[in-house]
Amino acid sequence: MKKVIVVGGGLGGIATALRLQSQGFNTTIIEKNNTLGGRLNTLQENGYRFDLGPSLIEWVEVFNELFSYVGKDMQSFLDFHRLPIAYKIYFKDGDSITVYADMQKLGKELEKYEKDASKKLEAFLEENRKKFEMLMNLVLTKEATLQMFLNPKLLFIAVRFGLLCSYTHDIKKYFSNPKIIDLLSFQNIYFGTDPDKDPAIYTILPYGEIALGVYYLQGGIYRIVETLETIAIKMGISILKNTEVTKINIKNGIITGILTKSGENIKSDIVVVNENIASASHDLIEENYQDYSDSYFKKASFSSSVITIYLGLKKTFPNAQHHMFFVAKTVKESIHDMQHKQTSTWDPSFYINIPSITDPTCAQKGHSAAFVLIPVPNIQYMKEWDISSLKKIVYDHIENDLKLSGFINSIEFESIMTPRDWKRKFNLYHGSTFGMSLQLNQLGPFRPACKSKKVDGLYFVGADMHPGSGLPPVLLSARITSDKILHETKR
Ligand SMILES: Cc1cc2nc3c(=O)[nH]c(=O)nc-3n(C[C@H](O)[C@H](O)[C@H](O)COP(=O)(O)OP(=O)(O)OC[C@H]3O[C@@H](n4cnc5c(N)ncnc54)[C@H](O)[C@@H]3O)c2cc1C
Repeated sequence: MKKVIVVGGGLGGIATALRLQSQGFNTTIIEKNNTLGGRLNTLQENGYRFDLGPSLIEWVEVFNELFSYVGKDMQSFLDFHRLPIAYKIYFKDGDSITVYADMQKLGKELEKYEKDASKKLEAFLEENRKKFEMLMNLVLTKEATLQMFLNPKLLFIAVRFGLLCSYTHDIKKYFSNPKIIDLLSFQNIYFGTDPDKDPAIYTILPYGEIALGVYYLQGGIYRIVETLETIAIKMGISILKNTEVTKINIKNGIITGILTKSGENIKSDIVVVNENIASASHDLIEENYQDYSDSYFKKASFSSSVITIYLGLKKTFPNAQHHMFFVAKTVKESIHDMQHKQTSTWDPSFYINIPSITDPTCAQKGHSAAFVLIPVPNIQYMKEWDISSLKKIVYDHIENDLKLSGFINSIEFESIMTPRDWKRKFNLYHGSTFGMSLQLNQLGPFRPACKSKKVDGLYFVGADMHPGSGLPPVLLSARITSDKILHETKR
């Protein structure tokens, strides 16, 4: 039985371990922190429960696929339910758009801003459905090689769906109202990339939120990790927590195992690295065995970081939604500020969720748990943050623009994570929370490969691999990497 070590117990690492163990490998997950899940994590304090990072669950089918692959029925473990309102987006001039799960209601909502918006929405979703299904079959579940990208079918899709034109250009084929355009492109703020430059492939993101839905998991998103961990233990996967890997041991170009911080060498035939590849290459792999050098990662583009604030509030807010976004300026201006402001005195766009609206187990009766996420440049571009002024600006917007009156005075618990905390806790390169940017020259075959070219038995999985950042893409990365290992070990 081949022995596999997975370095890092993020969602990508856990999913890879589960897939390989179910195929007869003897798998061990080694995680530096005292909990599994990586960025998909939880914070529980003072009677409040927060999701530490990810809070929007989309594309539940991909989670289902993992459970089925290991012979489990997801529904008997996890209670995902679609939110009737995916989110509400607020603009500085007082306007807001509610993104209903019901297409008729959403169409009517958009009609307030643009004539024939219902029909246009229908056309946008139908075109993106076709785009999404083709990409899913041909690209998103497969290893990204240059040959694959020269596949005539894919070239046809690229031309047919205008994948190489810009994201904004694609949205403008359907809508002309600036607020609707912002509604369909604000997702870019979180990656810190410019929709005028991003390829049109990513309009499948708003398609996913609107057509496939935004889900919540009763008991908190961290239930995913708790459930997968229980299944992993039952399947015989070994899990070492509080154990940091400091070196990947390689002899004559072949994996021999890993070295931990406490000096223990653990042998294995295969190592799968779930730590992000930029940090892992630099910290764990000897220079002559690195596929990608330090200078490659120095030149590469990394997404933004975030300041996240976890708030316990002794009040409920009947007019709030579970997920809310505030666009301080236009999306384009917000991204420009993010990319070019070296100080923290700008007026940031931000995201806030209050899960206790849907799930009373997040806070005591009469109280609310809120999570605020402010995208900021990563540590490469911004080293210090004036947290108190940022907080003041954002809290004022919450009271005045989101109209959650009494918000500030009801705060009884506050915990903050800065980009430096995100970097330290999960070894994130430049503290970039969404990993390598999703620009054209870092997509598909231009993203780091899941199998080392120099070391036999060394593989990578996670948000920096193809197809990209986010929970569903990371699960797809786990599928691609484990399929590759299965294929290679059968030869
Ligand atoms: C604030 C925030 C909000 C987000 N919101 C969403 C959202 O709403 N929806 C969504 O789909 N996605 C969201 N994402 C993105 C999503 O969380 C990530 O893409 C995904 O969780 C990454 O998983 P991963 O397995 O690739 O990496 P990670 O989660 O980073 O896992 C890597 C693991 O490796 C461990 N590790 C690192 N180095 C070592 C070492 N040397 N030894 C041992 N262990 C090590 C780390 O501690 C970590 O546990 C969000 C991310 C953040 C930060």
